Amino acid sequence: MTDKRVAVITGGASGIGKQTAIKFASKGDQVVVADFNQQLGEETVAQIIKEGGEAIFVKTDVSKYEDVEALVQKTVDTYGRIDVMFNNAGIGRVTPVLDQDLKDYHSVINVNQHGVAHGIIAAGKKMRELGIKGVIINTASVFGFLASPGTFAYHASKGAVIMMTKSAALELSVHGIRVLAVAPGAVDTPIIQGYKDQGMVDQMKSKVMGNKLTLPEQVADTVYLLSLPEASAINGSVVMADEGYASF
Ligand code: NAD
Repeated sequence: MTDKRVAVITGGASGIGKQTAIKFASKGDQVVVADFNQQLGEETVAQIIKEGGEAIFVKTDVSKYEDVEALVQKTVDTYGRIDVMFNNAGIGRVTPVLDQDLKDYHSVINVNQHGVAHGIIAAGKKMRELGIKGVIINTASVFGFLASPGTFAYHASKGAVIMMTKSAALELSVHGIRVLAVAPGAVDTPIIQGYKDQGMVDQMKSKVMGNKLTLPEQVADTVYLLSLPEASAINGSVVMADEGYASF
């Protein structure tokens, strides 16, 4: 048992999730890094521990509800509670809508949409059971609002994250649980580094103020701020962490 906050970060092995895990741990929270990439997930945990923080790794495929349920149970078994659930794991595929492999479409929906639903449901149930007034934060995207060619499934999944956030916030507020989303724009992580079309990356970069990619640490800082009790008025909201990407 602990009187520290306990934060679960899905997709914690890389990019935004990794930096968020490091951020929460550096502030004294106990962190559960969840990812299906075991090697990188364990490296994140090793880095946190080396820097004096507390963390464990739980191998998780967020597209499987039983994995996410087991993740939440392992969190409570280890640290005694769950205060923050950051549903962040996500994938992107770039292919024209009519030429895409339907398997790719389904895998994007399974991870980005169903993975977030699984996190909301599993963490929400556990917080309700334990009477914890926690916070659930979901990673949406500017692509939940703005369309661009080649990312049909990604838009569908992130639009769904936005509406699931609002819907769950309405219902979970009676238990004192906040649900919100963060919407990054173009962030310097492997998801973008993997795009073969440099023209597409340059175009995304040009929409970020200062013509650059946002750093994953900046998004991590936003997620941390939203998790604090001082952010109690922010509920059911989608908070842009996009350095202006969707504003102009
Ligand atoms: P990333 O590739 O660095 O990190 C994604 C992580 O999710 C990886 O560690 C990966 O192993 C993990 N993951 C993928 N599928 C999983 C599964 N089924 N179960 C568990 N873990 C899984 O990319 P990132 O940019 O840090 O992405 C994090 C989130 O931010 C995603 O939801 C992404 O859609 C969103 N986002 C990213 C950007 C950007 O520009 N990078 C912009 C907007 C939104």
